[in-house]
Amino acid sequence: MGFLDQWSFLLPGFEAPPAAPSGPSPTGSPRIRKVLLAGQPFDWVLTRSSRKTVGMSIQQGLIRVTAPRWVSIEEIETILVGKSRWLINRHQEWLNAQRNRLEPTEQWAHGASLKFLGQTLQIHLDPAAQQISWDAAGQRLILPLSLQADHEQIRDRVHAWMQQQAKDILLERLDLLAAQAGLQYSRFQISHAKGRWGSCTQDGRIRLNWRLVQFSLPVIDYVVAHELAHLRAMDHSPGFWTEVAKILPSFEEGRAQLKGVRLED
Ligand SMILES: [Zn+2]
Repeated sequence: MGFLDQWSFLLPGFEAPPAAPSGPSPTGSPRIRKVLLAGQPFDWVLTRSSRKTVGMSIQQGLIRVTAPRWVSIEEIETILVGKSRWLINRHQEWLNAQRNRLEPTEQWAHGASLKFLGQTLQIHLDPAAQQISWDAAGQRLILPLSLQADHEQIRDRVHAWMQQQAKDILLERLDLLAAQAGLQYSRFQISHAKGRWGSCTQDGRIRLNWRLVQFSLPVIDYVVAHELAHLRAMDHSPGFWTEVAKILPSFEEGRAQLKGVRLED
């Protein structure tokens, strides 16, 4: 992790002219402008500032630019086009992170959605239900709770259910890939570690984060194959990646989807 998520630089050949007399800036939301990057339209918004550099970042899927008052819109657009590749990559990371959010988009409430095995499920509260059930066809997670259930209650039930699912699903994938590759681990545990999808110790203990069940199988299998490969190589050398490919030839697919996704606690 730790990728550069802001870009800022001094414009070559520019000297800041004396500050123009500026009244109070107009209030209201900033205007959304469009720019074509590699043939694709992107929204961007501008904030004028007293700094001497042009800065840009992706926030909420929007390109946000801060620039001195003396840099024209045309000049800014030229700069954006020059940074196309960087902007498109950051935007893609943002999209990936959105797509893979486990937590409901709104709050923990009836009708909110969450991710499970790469599917979007809707939280459905049903006081008449006997137990939690996953309605795969209807893409719903039915909880035996009253419509007045509070957010923590809903979250705790969903988390408990997911952790139970994780135990079964992750162990199944681990055993399957280990057997196929002729590898043996010593112990499997579900982890709640912050910021880690999985780990493997010298003595062959593999831990997998329960939140992996939010993803589709290619992502889960990539993390499983990654940890299994550590049974043969503890580093991330080219030799290690050869081992990953032996266990799961299509590992790049899952790996790409996981890129830029932040693990919530
Ligand atoms: Zn590793």
